[in-house]
Amino acid sequence: MRMPALFVGHGNPMNAIERNEYFRGWQDIARRLPKPAAILCISAHWETHGAWVTATEHPSTIHDFYGFPKALFDVRYPAPGAPWLAERVVAVVASERVQLDPGRGLDHGAWSVLVAMYPAADIPVVQLGMDTGRPGSHHYAIGRQLAPLRDDNVLVLASGNMVHNLGVFSFHDPKPQAWAERCDEELRKRISAGDHPALMDPHSLGAEMRLAVPTPEHYYPLLYSLALQQDGEPLEFFNARVTSSLSMTSVVIGAGPQA
Ligand code: ZN
Repeated sequence: MRMPALFVGHGNPMNAIERNEYFRGWQDIARRLPKPAAILCISAHWETHGAWVTATEHPSTIHDFYGFPKALFDVRYPAPGAPWLAERVVAVVASERVQLDPGRGLDHGAWSVLVAMYPAADIPVVQLGMDTGRPGSHHYAIGRQLAPLRDDNVLVLASGNMVHNLGVFSFHDPKPQAWAERCDEELRKRISAGDHPALMDPHSLGAEMRLAVPTPEHYYPLLYSLALQQDGEPLEFFNARVTSSLSMTSVVIGAGPQA
């Protein structure tokens, strides 16, 4: 049995404690998946030089933001690490020398989603960093190499946002900006069509994509998920909504029919 793979739009860290529609979307998707043996998270919030994977037994909860309420800083996600999975990542990613980071914990790209999906924090979590100086094709190629992990019952959870422009984001006016909706729609269309070569270079998809993907770190996680889609494997969107200049659109690959 092959574990499904996920790309999740995480958005505002407050989604971790607000019990809103996105939180419920994350709860619902977790209920549709078989229980994973472990989770490998690729988050927008761990940018590295070279390839790194967390290898600690007890990862801390990293509060990598500021200006939010104390309740968010009080959140802890005490899931164990999985040094065995870190070693497995080193073994399967043959194209890179993946290095073990013995100290790094879990950033909010991971835990803000996992508190909803697996609140018991009883599934081990490992994070794989992204060298965002490298092009999309590099990240897609690493994603391909993670495929055997799905047969080990590992959930590959990529966490970012397909459309993410905080420079023009408005907290006061969540109405979708027209260009953001157009870009989200275009990306969904390409994803449904399996047009992975075009998706590896989003700026090739039109001038507005420079607004949607002004920097690559929230977009690249998507490529790890798409790279895991096997021929003919079903794909569905969930939490597909744009707020201001941010798309929460999420993708599940290889899940069974909705209950
Ligand atoms: Zn983020």
